[in-house]
Amino acid sequence: MTSQPTPQFDAVDIIRAKRDHQVLTADQINWVINAYTDGTVADYQMAALNMAILLNGMNREEISTWTNAMIHTGERMDFSALQFPTSDKHSTGGVGDKITLPLAPLVAVFDVAVPQLSGRGLGHTGGTLDKLESIRGWRAALTNDEMMRQLDTIGAVICQAGSGLAPADRKLYALRDVTGTVEAIPLIASSIMSKKIAEGTGALVLDVKVGSGAFMKNEQDARTLAQTMVDLGKDAGVNTVALLTNMTTPLGRTVGNALEVRESVEVLAGGGPTDVVDLTVALAVEMLAAAGKPVAEDEVRAALQDGRAMDKWRQMIAAQDGDNDAPLPVAAEQQQILAPESGVLATLDAYDVGVASWRLGAGRARKEDPVQAGAGIELHAKPGDTVTAGQPLMTLHTDTPERFERALETAGKSFTIAEQADASATTLIYDRIS
Ligand code: URA
Repeated sequence: MTSQPTPQFDAVDIIRAKRDHQVLTADQINWVINAYTDGTVADYQMAALNMAILLNGMNREEISTWTNAMIHTGERMDFSALQFPTSDKHSTGGVGDKITLPLAPLVAVFDVAVPQLSGRGLGHTGGTLDKLESIRGWRAALTNDEMMRQLDTIGAVICQAGSGLAPADRKLYALRDVTGTVEAIPLIASSIMSKKIAEGTGALVLDVKVGSGAFMKNEQDARTLAQTMVDLGKDAGVNTVALLTNMTTPLGRTVGNALEVRESVEVLAGGGPTDVVDLTVALAVEMLAAAGKPVAEDEVRAALQDGRAMDKWRQMIAAQDGDNDAPLPVAAEQQQILAPESGVLATLDAYDVGVASWRLGAGRARKEDPVQAGAGIELHAKPGDTVTAGQPLMTLHTDTPERFERALETAGKSFTIAEQADASATTLIYDRIS
């Protein structure tokens, strides 16, 4: 009979240490992450440790060690052979947040490569891959070789993150989701940054959203999360900065997969809503500077106006078998919500609009659910706009009209009309954290 090696630690001792406010050692953290990934530590033990971390926190060194341990459970990409420096953006997620779509080709115009490894949406915020999959033929899954080739020739790729990046995170995140421990800032920061650092980008710009439609509802929590992630990036040698941005109201005038692609193409054609254009330009300026290739804001804006970013977009879509000229899917049924009175649209709540869009079929409740490409909401007015009683405020789109009733429950209470707009709904960028 072969004897099992004695484990280096006992999970219960590590749980007790964090329960009693102690600082975990690097050996304890490395052991527990590996032992959880290989199944030695049980889900219920990791759940207890996660809860102790949520309640008692971790210091900068513990979070950094925890993040590195997660990275070491999988592969790490290496872009050092590319002809361009790399810079990526990560958004903590918001309603109508389609910024990645115009942003990646825009940055690539200036010879900085963007390796954007994305996910699908779950809950009220949409996923970048779901949006792009509304383009006929477009393929999210690329091999590492295809990704490298596209980065070297076109300079931008948006594709599915391979399962080899930080596999510990997939297991941990699924556990946190069902044990009330998603909200722990050390765990959110290490989850996001382990994947971004493993992805191998040289520079990273974080768009940390604040408000009803975001993960972080208040500015103080968002600021703490942003600073924690910036510190983690720097500790790992990734030049990282964060913008704190407004998610009290949806970004742009569309929410939903094909609707958001349409709006992104408008931005790439030199038009589109001001907030989407301004945030895209601000993030591009940050990504270029972080990669060591600063470009003035006017010059970045010009690349949207003169077709250079659009050319990159078309190359990027075609390289992944997407048909740039195919019409985007349109939902079978539409219903409008009209302004009940005249005045100024004072507030338009991002969470309510996100939930309504999700109920229309644009999002999924479980990760294996399909999404409707054409479902979502078009916003005909944004906070600050003058509205007249009876004018359409929004159009709801779905292929399955039985969804209208529940969507209307949330969309119908998503706005207020008053004499003037709430200032909190019209500020775009609150702060920059470096
Ligand atoms: N996104 C992630 O990738 N991880 C988290 O913990 C939260 C949001």
